Amino acid sequence: MSVTQLIYRSRKNTLPPNGIFAIQDQARRNNAERDLTGVLLFNRDYFLQCLEGDAEQVTRTFRTISDDPRHREVALIAVGDVAERCFPDWSMGLVDSTSPDLRVALRDVLPGYEFTPEALDATTATTLMQRMRTLSYTR
Ligand code: FAD
Repeated sequence: MSVTQLIYRSRKNTLPPNGIFAIQDQARRNNAERDLTGVLLFNRDYFLQCLEGDAEQVTRTFRTISDDPRHREVALIAVGDVAERCFPDWSMGLVDSTSPDLRVALRDVLPGYEFTPEALDATTATTLMQRMRTLSYTR
């Protein structure tokens, strides 16, 4: 069965304390029910999310996410079918993109490791997700 993978970026709006964990809880609950997996990278200003699963579920969930007032300027970076999931074990992994370990692991994918998703093209974003697949410490 083919798997659709969608990657988007957005700018964070101000979140209450623990706001990021509220998003993760909601995402994990819904995604597990919909057989969706993926990862949500964040820093102070941005989100970068990868969603993977059945095409209709990915599209429907992305539409809901796009309307969420907790972020803005939601922009699709890449969408397409992939041979297998990058994050089969994560209903929604949460990764702080400023983690020093992550910076080291991704330095050849993101030279200078400037985590500004606005500058990410589809190929680099897809490669980044494939690389993250190998980073067990980010679970
Ligand atoms: P909804 O998901 O809107 O569901 C309401 C009802 O509609 C459901 O009970 C169901 O009956 C029906 N429904 C809606 N969509 C589907 C579907 N795909 N399949 C079947 N039935 C459906 N939310 C996620 O779920 N997954 C994420 O990965 C995710 N990532 C987020 C990332 C960011 C940066 C932000 C800001 C938000 C994210 N959210 C995510 C939260 C999302 O924006 C909504 O707030 C959340 O999905 C609302 O969940 P809900 O269960 O209250 O309502």
